[in-house]
Amino acid sequence: MAKRPTPQHLIAMTQSRSPLSDPLHRAKFEVEFQPEADLDPQDWEAFGAEAHRALDLMLDHLRTIRAQKVWQDAPKDVRARFRAPLPQKGHDIGELIDTFAESILPYGSGNLHPLFAGWVQGGGTPVGMVADMLAAGLNANCGGRNHIALDVERQITLWLTEIFNFPRESSGIFVTGTSVANLVAVLIARTDALGIDARSGGLASGGRQLTGYVSQEAHVCIEKAFDMSGIGSDFLRKLPVDSNGAIRLDALTEAIARDRADGLQPAIVIGNAGTVNTGAFDPFDALADLCAKEDLWFHVDGAFGALCAMAPELRPLIKGMERADTIALDFHKWLQVPYDAGFAICRDAEAHQRAFMSSGAYLSRAPRGLAAGEAWPCDLGPDLSRGFRALKTWFTFQAFGAERLGETIAQTCRIAQHLARLIETSPRFKLCAPVKLNVVCFSAKAETPGEDLGALNRAIVMDLHESGVAAPSLTLLDGRPVIRAAILNHRTRLSDMDFLFEAATASAARLRTRLRSGIR
Ligand SMILES: *Cc1c(COP(=O)(O)O)cnc(C)c1O
Repeated sequence: MAKRPTPQHLIAMTQSRSPLSDPLHRAKFEVEFQPEADLDPQDWEAFGAEAHRALDLMLDHLRTIRAQKVWQDAPKDVRARFRAPLPQKGHDIGELIDTFAESILPYGSGNLHPLFAGWVQGGGTPVGMVADMLAAGLNANCGGRNHIALDVERQITLWLTEIFNFPRESSGIFVTGTSVANLVAVLIARTDALGIDARSGGLASGGRQLTGYVSQEAHVCIEKAFDMSGIGSDFLRKLPVDSNGAIRLDALTEAIARDRADGLQPAIVIGNAGTVNTGAFDPFDALADLCAKEDLWFHVDGAFGALCAMAPELRPLIKGMERADTIALDFHKWLQVPYDAGFAICRDAEAHQRAFMSSGAYLSRAPRGLAAGEAWPCDLGPDLSRGFRALKTWFTFQAFGAERLGETIAQTCRIAQHLARLIETSPRFKLCAPVKLNVVCFSAKAETPGEDLGALNRAIVMDLHESGVAAPSLTLLDGRPVIRAAILNHRTRLSDMDFLFEAATASAARLRTRLRSGIR
């Protein structure tokens, strides 16, 4: 067997192929092209020291995150630093790192913290941070062409086909988040329903108005996707749910029949894998059967819930999702990949390309060389230039392994159950929705008749934020403001829920005293 080359050997081989490695040629080149005009450090050693300091700063921040406040509002003078005039002259990198440490680092949104439970946000990991630094250093443009970063991105698609039990030939694309991934899916479904001519002729060329179907619990970004696709958000039918928060099939079947009778063209059904409000799942097998019967595109918004596929105890929830045509998901939520890392996967790679492939002389493909390769990512989504989101995702899968990542997901659900039990047995609070997954919606209980619980819940949430103790968020359930804790952070422990619960109880008592004495 041939001896494997060392990294030094490889670098020497590469350099020996470059004409610049000839010292005479090199000297002439450097005189002609004035390399001192570039933006690289003049003193690499000094820069390296600052770069290491920046890395240490972030590692220290992450290591001590638990001892810090979840959130604090940035003071006026700090905010004022970001209304400064355009710098005409450069500053020293060390000075900028100091400014970052003083004026940016302490005033983050808090989602690194174990007691952050607001909205649906991931906690990130040091592994993902390092990978993102490497990706930034590489500065790869992942719109297309023939380079290894695209193989890494294809690797993520292949892993998802394993996780979701999708065909190996499926195609996938990184985008900012599930909002854009849902838009990508709606655009594929549109092109599939109307044919490729609709891309040039517009939606009216199909002759009939397209319609889509989703439950009323769906994320607002789906409405926005209908708006942006030109189909129109009025033609997204939002259907009622049952007591589990799942779409009602009778209402869905009726809506499709009504639209057909009215001369419209039903095109896409969107199922939810984990709704934002309560973490509910739609019945995917029934939706897949219906879509097959009615010849409709079946998409799943699986922003966080699709990754239940990675946790054996949660996997039954996504049964039937493997029959979807497209799935939208985020790696930046439950998989803890640093922002942003959304993804759309499509079972039919050709349908995917038909929706986005376009020609341009400057994008033409060559049989060999850097412009080689068949499907480029720019053929699969709206972006041309795009960064290397796949690397931090690849590092995350490789560093932790699918089992441990799945276990982290399952763990957040067990922690949510613990909080649910604390609330159920509390005289002061009540659960507002069944806890199926990792989302706990709760409310203060009335102590006096006619008490405005919505206002109290709202005040408790703001109070917890401002004290820096915990960060749940607020949502509306049946039109009423309730406190919502979504547990996604891998750093969150059972005992953090005791702490959150006690802090909410204390806050409620304090606020009631204040409200009673008329102080607002
Ligand atoms: C978070 C979320 C979205 C939006 O995803 P982004 O990554 O924020 O664009 C859509 N649907 C659901 C169910 C979500 O939880």
